[in-house]
This record gives sequence, structure tokens and C-alpha cells, in this order.
Amino acid sequence: MLLALDICFAYRYNISGTVDDMILDFSKIKLIPGGKLEFQFEEELDPAAYGFGEYALTKPVSCQGKAQHAEGSFRVEGRYHSTAELCCSRCSQLFTSPVSGEFSVSFVAGTQVDWDGEQDVYELNGDQADLGAVIAGEIFFSLPMQPLCREDCRGLCPHCGANLNETSCSCRDEEIDPRWEKLKDLLNQD
Ligand SMILES: [Zn+2]
Ligand SMILES: [Zn+2]
Repeated sequence: MLLALDICFAYRYNISGTVDDMILDFSKIKLIPGGKLEFQFEEELDPAAYGFGEYALTKPVSCQGKAQHAEGSFRVEGRYHSTAELCCSRCSQLFTSPVSGEFSVSFVAGTQVDWDGEQDVYELNGDQADLGAVIAGEIFFSLPMQPLCREDCRGLCPHCGANLNETSCSCRDEEIDPRWEKLKDLLNQD
């Protein structure tokens, strides 16, 4: 009977958590099976601190979601939004691009990590989970392999390095295919 009461209580038990530096504290729900923790925050995130130095964020990450305690593990679902600074793969100029997405991960105490292949499992040390690591990774794997500052980026001239979005260079005129030279001669005969 006591167990039934506990579960009933747990399902109604809904906690709103505040998050400092993206640290989610499970201590309030770890003794309550099914206990839920809702969170919402806006924090600066440095991806390099988590080994993702390939990009930077120019805005704080806004994030909201919920965590639920289930048999010793904590399932965390949420959505995030920020703005990333990327380097164009054609013209090498830095540009900003909105990044957003959803995540669904589990935090499991160290020795019990059981990879189920369907969602990401993170090792939990103590009662606290760092969502910064989750979000930095989620953003990284969502980035395009070859970022473009714009769909029709004209890139750099392979000869003089000029940014062809901003200027035109004279390299093309100097490199006329010899086969066209004859045609040009023909046209000039009139
Ligand atoms: Zn570009
Ligand atoms: Zn050129």
C-alpha cells in the first residue's frame, strides 16, 4: 500500500528547477520513482570547453525541457536554440547561423551504463548532470559538413584568392581555353 501511495505521489510531484551553468541537479527527484523536474535556462556555452573547438556560439543557449527519474536513471528531454559562428567552406569567411534542435538522453550512474542503441546514455557522477556537454555535442553533430555562408557563395578565386562575392578578378580573362582562341579568331574576321 505504501508503495502505491508513493507512486501516486510521484506522478503528481512536479518540480521546477533552476539551472546554474547548465548543471541539472537530480537530488530532488532521486528518491521519487517517476519524479519529474522541469527546467528552463539561458546560459553562455563555450563548446571548446567540451572538446568542440570547431565552432563558437555568439548567443547564450536558451533551453527548456524536463527530466524524469526511472529506475535509477534520469531521462532528460529538451529543446535548445542559439546562434553559431561558422567558417564558410567556399570563401573562408565567418558567418552566423541559427542552431536549434531537440535532445533525448539518459543519465545513468557510472557502473550501470547500458547502451540501448536508441538514445544517448551519459554517465552520471553524483546527483548532477552537465547539460552543457549534451548541448555542445548535439549542436556539433547537427552542423553541416561543409558550411556555406549562403547557397550561392561564389568562393575564392583559385588563382589570386580574391573573394568573388565581393569583387571580381581578371584571372578568368587571362586563362581562355586554347580551343576558344580559334573561335575568337573566327569571330574577329568579320
Ligand atoms: Zn562563403
Ligand atoms: Zn583571381
